[in-house]
Parts: sequence; C-alpha cells; structure tokens
Amino acid sequence: MTQLGLPEDIHACLFDLDGVVTRTAVVHAAAWKEMFDAFLRERDGAEYRPFTSADYDEYVDGRPRADGVRTFLASRSIDLPDGDPDDPPGAETVHGLGNRKNELVLEKIRTDGVEAYDGTLRYLESVRAHGLSTAIVSSSANCRDVLRSIGAEHFFDVRIDGVVAAERKLPGKPHPDTFLAAAEDLGVDPSEAAVFEDALAGMDAGRAGRFGYVVGVDRVGQTDALYRHGADIVVQDLAELGETE
Ligand SMILES: [Mg+2]
Repeated sequence: MTQLGLPEDIHACLFDLDGVVTRTAVVHAAAWKEMFDAFLRERDGAEYRPFTSADYDEYVDGRPRADGVRTFLASRSIDLPDGDPDDPPGAETVHGLGNRKNELVLEKIRTDGVEAYDGTLRYLESVRAHGLSTAIVSSSANCRDVLRSIGAEHFFDVRIDGVVAAERKLPGKPHPDTFLAAAEDLGVDPSEAAVFEDALAGMDAGRAGRFGYVVGVDRVGQTDALYRHGADIVVQDLAELGETE
C-alpha cells in the first residue's frame, strides 16, 4: 500500500460528491423525506407509512433523481407516470416529485450553505501531490455549482455529473457507467482507479465496474452494509487512509 492508503497500481481516484466531499448527504436525505412524506400523507391519509432512513439508503441515496423516485415508489408498489422533466414541482409524476425534492435541496443549500469535509480536501491535496489524477463522479445536476461554492473545482481533472451523464446518455449509479466514463476520460483502466463513495448504490457501481479499489465512506453508521455491497475498506473520514499533509 502507498502513503495514500491505496494499492501501488492505483493511478486515478474517482470521488463521489455528496457525503464524500461535501456534507450534503444529510441535506438530501431531509429533502427526500420531506417530499415523500408529503406525497404519502396526501395519498394515504393519516395512516401513511413515512419514508425512513433505511428507505433512503436502500432505494434513493446515490442514484439519479428520477431513478431514486422510481425505485422508492416501486418498493411501495406505487406506479406513477414518468411525466416530463419540466413538470412543476409536486406534480404527481416521477419528474414532478423529483423536481419538488430538488427545489427543497436548493432552498436548504441557499439558506444554510454547503460545507466541505476538511479530511477529504486534505486527502485531495495529497492525492494530487502524489501525481494521481482525479475525477468527481456525481449523480447531482448541481455538482458544478456546489464545487464552486466550496472552492474545490480545481481539485478535479474530470467531472462526470448529472449534466454530463444526461448529455452522454450514461445510466447512473448503481450502474458503473459514470465511473467508467471518468476512468476513460482520465486515460486509465478501471483496475487502476479507486472509487470513493458513501452510498450503497455507489459500492454496487464500484464492484460492477471492476475498479481496482473501492473505498466506502461511512458517515452514518452503515459500515457493515458498505462492506456487503463491495467495499474493499471502509473509513469514517479520508484522513484515516494515509498522510494528509
Ligand atoms: Mg454520496
């Protein structure tokens, strides 16, 4: 293992955004819950079964927004039309619910701002100082704005986010395609790239893409689940991986 805590043959590092670089996983979880609970209450009345953190981990976290809506609704045997990406927030379609969730996230980010994990920023500096290349691989369509707001855009050689994935028609996590595209853009084989992810869907993507090393980042006490979904190692903070000066 190198001073970065990675196998010797790793030449590129592919980072998820929400929950790995920024403390926005909590913001997303809260927005999903607020949106789904309002929808379920409207539909089922006082008897409604609320959206839980287990639902978030299993069906939503890490996936593109519309896939998150579809996967959770399917888990409750609820069938809604897809609708149109421009549907108004809250319309009873997959995109309408997704747009409502996005509206809530943007409100929360505008009010509270976005915070980065210092351990990740120091690790990124270290990774670049050792000459490894880097990519940000996020399902978020707001990825670029979020990186700019924390002054971290310069840390990444390549960005594959929700916007790029839509342009290139790449299926999102848990499919490996966005990570594979990042590795290809960086000119490395997947076996030479490490994936850094906090979502179970991200672990699945890392395993499906046969990446050289998969680092699970546990911010919420789901270490066992991250290992079950294919992590080679689980840390609570990237600072644990190696030198971060
Ligand atoms: Mg994440």
